[in-house]
Amino acid sequence: MNDVKISAEHVRKYYAETSAHPIRAIEDVNLDVKEGEFVSLLGPSGCGKSTFLFMVGGFERPTSGMCFIDGKPIQGPGADRGIVFQEYALFPWQKVRHNISYGMRIAGKSKVEQDRRVAELIQMTGLQGFEDRYPEHLSGGMKQRVAIARALAYDPQILLMDEPFGALDAQTRSKMISDLISIHQKTRKTTLFVTHNVEEAILLSDKVALFSARPSRIKTVFPIEMPHPRKVTDDGFVKYERQILDSLEEEMWKTEQMDANAAHQQ
Ligand code: ADP
Repeated sequence: MNDVKISAEHVRKYYAETSAHPIRAIEDVNLDVKEGEFVSLLGPSGCGKSTFLFMVGGFERPTSGMCFIDGKPIQGPGADRGIVFQEYALFPWQKVRHNISYGMRIAGKSKVEQDRRVAELIQMTGLQGFEDRYPEHLSGGMKQRVAIARALAYDPQILLMDEPFGALDAQTRSKMISDLISIHQKTRKTTLFVTHNVEEAILLSDKVALFSARPSRIKTVFPIEMPHPRKVTDDGFVKYERQILDSLEEEMWKTEQMDANAAHQQ
């Protein structure tokens, strides 16, 4: 059990819990993520995937139950976790290189160390030639590369990604997926990746954790036993896709029914 990096035990999260109408986002999530694993959190919109990621990030606390890193309860955010959001969250007034080194500057790392690390990350994330641009002069894909480089700057043990490719066009997304696979192969960061895209989840992950409709549980964890690089046309891929899509569609249908009932009651 020593190689379990992140775990969740009976995690429940209700918002507005003291009000007459609490929002029951997560009912009971249990999950073990091993050191170095890439795990996708997949599920219908609004089922609590981001909420779960934020609890692992230390930005939200469970209503009951607990999330752990290396067996220790998560008490708040920390430099052991790098986070990438869908909306880039870059500083528009800083060049690419300074966006990446931001955390290191705050932490008082030497200029030599900052420069060495920034050069390494620029190389790893394919940003060569863009070091001195400002975010407004970058494409969506390039901005997301900067966000990934910035999350890795501290050399965190864990990478948390919240639909990082959700806003990208199909071609850019596909390139970002293959680049993220090679970054993961180089760094072996334990990664939690939120998505509602089945294809993305299968292409990237060691395991896909499928969340049920809200209030959610983890319905099934699918281990994806296929070597990289994976192709959407591989027999194995198509089999996993069918299996996961069937299960996901069931939960999406339940969510739609629930939303329709709620709308009817208003
Ligand atoms: P997902 O990432 O799966 O789309 P979220 O975690 O964003 O789902 O949201 C789960 C549920 O919790 C949704 O019903 C959402 O509206 C609700 N929710 C999320 N954040 C808050 C918040 N800060 N306050 C109240 N409700 C929230």
